[in-house]
Amino acid sequence: MKIKNSKNFIDFCQEIGIDSFYSHYPLSRIKYRKNANKSQKSLNYKNKIEKLELLDNLKKRIEILDCSIKKTSTNLVFSDGDPYSDLMLIGEAPGSEEDRKGVPFVGQAGELLNEIMKSININRNDFYITNILFWRPPGNRNPSIEEIDLCIPLVKEHIKIINPKYLILLGNVALKSLLDVKEGITKVSGERFEYISEKKKIPCWPVFHPAFLLRNPIAKKKMWLDICKIHKYMKNYARN
Ligand code: URA
Repeated sequence: MKIKNSKNFIDFCQEIGIDSFYSHYPLSRIKYRKNANKSQKSLNYKNKIEKLELLDNLKKRIEILDCSIKKTSTNLVFSDGDPYSDLMLIGEAPGSEEDRKGVPFVGQAGELLNEIMKSININRNDFYITNILFWRPPGNRNPSIEEIDLCIPLVKEHIKIINPKYLILLGNVALKSLLDVKEGITKVSGERFEYISEKKKIPCWPVFHPAFLLRNPIAKKKMWLDICKIHKYMKNYARN
């Protein structure tokens, strides 16, 4: 099933038995945006510049990392979106389209992710996104333990610099690499955990990877429920 646009996505959801497309709770978009913008306003100019410098410095250190998949890839895939956003998403590793463009989640899985986020009124430019691996594993194979071990300290530093209010982990690799959880993604998707960064507890949700949803459309219903739950939490949290 190829998701071409939101109408196509809605038709498909109806086909698999999802019959309502409204939120389970009322949402004042004006109020939500105001709250979401509060933390950005409190960041002063110096902090903003400092964050960009730290990101630039991190990217330079990643560029010189001795990782074998670097040799088989076209581009380093660092991040996309708003570095001042409250919301950070972390995926697994770039695919072929991402490798070609040097930007995460720009292929089919990325398009589906954008649709999912749009369904809770969050546009692509409203969040920050990266991956556990910074290069595409050849043939899109799974990341190896060695590759993850090499990249993960830099991913943790990436989180520290972005300092998000909320984290969403896309798929099992991100879940297992960043949270100490025995169960796999099928068991814990949509559950809220805490990711500790610099003694700060960040609410963190593992959810299905959009590429998994493309292969298993039946799981979209669970994803939809999880994402609504996360959105509700963020909305309430922003209010308090
Ligand atoms: N899948 C991922 O995990 N990351 C990407 O950037 C693209 C697809």
